[in-house]
Amino acid sequence: MSSLPKCPQCSSEYTYEDGSLYICPECAHEWPKDAVEESADQKRAVHDSNGNVLQDGDTVTVIKDLKVKGSSLVVKVGTKVKNIRLIEGDHDIDCKIDGIGAMQLKSEFVKKA
Ligand SMILES: [Zn+2]
Repeated sequence: MSSLPKCPQCSSEYTYEDGSLYICPECAHEWPKDAVEESADQKRAVHDSNGNVLQDGDTVTVIKDLKVKGSSLVVKVGTKVKNIRLIEGDHDIDCKIDGIGAMQLKSEFVKKA
């Protein structure tokens, strides 16, 4: 059974499987088998209005008129937004728009250019 991982806590090689867990008999540490995969999946993907995955540095197009909070400016449909940066939160795109400046957008209101 060389495929069993060593105990992450005490490096024991005598770990064994129990259902979806690995168990270390030396320090009694238990951890889920899929812990590593899960943490990779948890990296949240940001999707545009078409379901395409967005990435830092992408160029997107605005798909509806968006009012800029606290001003009378409007980001018009079809505005190209270059070099977006993905952030956490309700508005998940941080960007800079020509003529308007730095602002945040919702990914549901853009599509990948
Ligand atoms: Zn251990």
